[in-house]
Amino acid sequence: MKIAILSIEPTLYSTRKLVEAGVERGHEVEVIDYLRCYMNITSMNPQVIYMGESLEGFDAIIPRIGASQTFYGTAVVRQFEMMGVFTANPSQAISRSRDKLHCLQLLAREGIELPVTGFAHSTKDIDGLINTVSGAPLVIKLLEGTQGIGVVLAETYQTAKSVIEAFRGLDANILVQEFIEEAGGADLRCFVVGDKVIAAMKRQGAEGEFRSNLHRGGTAKKIRLSPEERSTATRSAKAMGLRVAGVDLLRSNRGPVVMEVNSSPGLEGIETATKVDVSGKIIEFLEKNAQKG
Ligand code: ADP
Ligand code: MG
Repeated sequence: MKIAILSIEPTLYSTRKLVEAGVERGHEVEVIDYLRCYMNITSMNPQVIYMGESLEGFDAIIPRIGASQTFYGTAVVRQFEMMGVFTANPSQAISRSRDKLHCLQLLAREGIELPVTGFAHSTKDIDGLINTVSGAPLVIKLLEGTQGIGVVLAETYQTAKSVIEAFRGLDANILVQEFIEEAGGADLRCFVVGDKVIAAMKRQGAEGEFRSNLHRGGTAKKIRLSPEERSTATRSAKAMGLRVAGVDLLRSNRGPVVMEVNSSPGLEGIETATKVDVSGKIIEFLEKNAQKG
């Protein structure tokens, strides 16, 4: 097969490992900087042009679209879709996954358990908003944050109110969420490929930190999921329309609740913690699905 990895960071662990895994399995793999692609949107003959040449003959793409490049990145993925190229993740599913609110709305519709979450536009409704999640302590999140930045734990009603006002004053979109205290600063990253969880790790936040993000100093180790956790993860990826996804769960008193679903989950943390060849599994998935056309 001829595979394109859409990434602006060829030296990143995830990109390098995907290239290696593809080449090892006898494929031709190219890393394409999607920001350098331009498109020809002619009727019946869609094209992607890269460094002056039309990209042709690709069987599959693996989009690794950065959080700050969703708009242009998904436009390039869509163009490949128009050309009939199989994509590890559809453009629409990537767009949805980037908006935490949209993501939670889709999961809720499927009956998937979530932390109680509220969203409002106007600061006039702050009291009501705080009440929807039964008051403090509560978590406040920027709608488009990543790596734990823009996630705040407000321990009291007053803190909650002033943080919400501050964010709204900057015109930032936020959601408020029930704080799952019993998770103990840990979450589960379930790596889904196709309709299976192929690897899972537990991330534990640094001492005194409720955010488990590895970028915030968290540590990770391999974990065995319960059947319920497993099915929650695969159902979540499916609800989002993602074929490759990192589904993050919290262990709450009422069972697993989904926090978010990532469409370009990093490979380094999960491969290191679990020793599973995640990149190889992604390539295998393409082999099984792309050739079917
Ligand atoms: P990001 O996209 O920035 O990673 P998340 O929504 O994943 O944002 O939140 C970052 C971390 O904060 C999570 O990994 C989790 O450890 C913690 N966290 C987020 N929401 C909650 C919550 N409702 N209850 C308890 N901990 C939470
Ligand atoms: Mg997260």
